[in-house]
Amino acid sequence: MVNRLTLYSILIVVLSGCANTRVIQSETSHFKATEEFYQSITRPSAIDESTLNLFLTKMPKGADIHHHYSGTIYAETYLDWVKEKGWLINPCTSRIITSNKKTKIKACDKPAMTVQELLNDNRSFRQLLMLWSNKDFSNHFHEQVPPDSNFFNTFGYFGPISDDNQAIGLKIIKQRAIDENVSYIETMLSRVGVKAKNFFDNQQSISLIDELRKTESQKEVDTILKKIDDAVLNNSDFVSQVKSFVDTLEQDHQGIDQSNFTMRYQSYAVRVLNPLQVYLDLLAGYQACETSPLFVGVNIVAPENNATALADYTLHMRMYNYLARNYPQVGRALHAGELTLGMVRPEDLLFHIEEARNIAKAQRIGHGIDIPYEKNSINVLKDLKENAVVEINLTSNEFILGVKHNAHPYNIYSKYDVPMVISTDDSGVSRNNLTNEFVLLTTRYRPDYSQIKEYVFNSIKYSFLTEEKQKEIMKDLSLRFQVFEKEMSGLWSQIKQAQ
Ligand SMILES: [Zn+2]
Repeated sequence: MVNRLTLYSILIVVLSGCANTRVIQSETSHFKATEEFYQSITRPSAIDESTLNLFLTKMPKGADIHHHYSGTIYAETYLDWVKEKGWLINPCTSRIITSNKKTKIKACDKPAMTVQELLNDNRSFRQLLMLWSNKDFSNHFHEQVPPDSNFFNTFGYFGPISDDNQAIGLKIIKQRAIDENVSYIETMLSRVGVKAKNFFDNQQSISLIDELRKTESQKEVDTILKKIDDAVLNNSDFVSQVKSFVDTLEQDHQGIDQSNFTMRYQSYAVRVLNPLQVYLDLLAGYQACETSPLFVGVNIVAPENNATALADYTLHMRMYNYLARNYPQVGRALHAGELTLGMVRPEDLLFHIEEARNIAKAQRIGHGIDIPYEKNSINVLKDLKENAVVEINLTSNEFILGVKHNAHPYNIYSKYDVPMVISTDDSGVSRNNLTNEFVLLTTRYRPDYSQIKEYVFNSIKYSFLTEEKQKEIMKDLSLRFQVFEKEMSGLWSQIKQAQ
């Protein structure tokens, strides 16, 4: 005979089962309504871009795992910092004068300006915005350098101030992410700052650079890198510079992580420098990752079409191969294949993504634009599909490379089912945000709503966070989507009623 307690337990199970079923049913109906709403605003015949903007602003976007710290800060913020220092601006060149003395400037008919004077002078202010960012580059006739030069030159303009105020800068980009419903960001912060000349005299440097450039195999590269490791890894200056870099970041990071937001960092090497300096930057970056869990990866940046970057490309990949064996737990996200036809010789387009995967063992490919031109593109795609992810940066690719719409390899990656994430690259210089990257994605390629959600979840899945932290953020992301879909479902029914 069934006693009262058992009957009560059965009743509870049945009722909670019904409640769970109802929750699942309402979640499914909110998902379906959101999907229908999304389809209605992305119809090819009538894309409703402003409503799409609202939709995507509110949508949880997971993570932005490809962006550069200094390129993410807007010019206006840098000007605030110049003002705080009392520094001046050269109104002829728009360059920062790192002094507060109003002396006459050579070859300029106007005196140096305070930031306030600059803000009051519309012409000078607008000129500065065009040089410190991509603002107004294409919408009117003016004297200008090519777009890729305009882009990379910006870093030289705000360079004197960009390293200052890092703690404030991190808080600014954190708040921007939270405002866009982003849970996690992985910022390429800076180089560690070790200098080859502090560890090797001129003759030693020349001979190491020469030896590195003459190598023809991984084994030869390994031998030289081991020699460099032996010279610097126990050097107290090297160790203390890495420590000081990590300490500064740990100090500036205080108060950044909170229950609904997490931030981690990559350092990087600059691929246009000599290979000894490139290796020391990589090595110091790997050491920073060993020292602090806040550093999760080491990237390689700067124009890939630069003559040195092109000539040393395979050597750089071999450096990564060596480091991957010594530090297998450190994340490897590489800018690779940020090139297109006309920018370099056709032979330079044949192998960059392939080598980033096969030699450097990159887990994440930044940009991946040259894939249609690569010699072994089909095998590379198969490998990417199974073992890696491509970080898609639509605004940046359009501006720097002139690759957009159907010329962008998004369609190739999509057809081959290669995992992708959507990211901003340099939203301060490009004057965009992550939402806008999703707007470009949806208006250009119209992936369905489920596909967009997959990109969002990919951004956590392919982040360099620990597995445990990924799980925690994924769980929170699912809850955010439930809230979002309920809200969009309500909005969609209001719209339908009004129609
Ligand atoms: Zn980048």
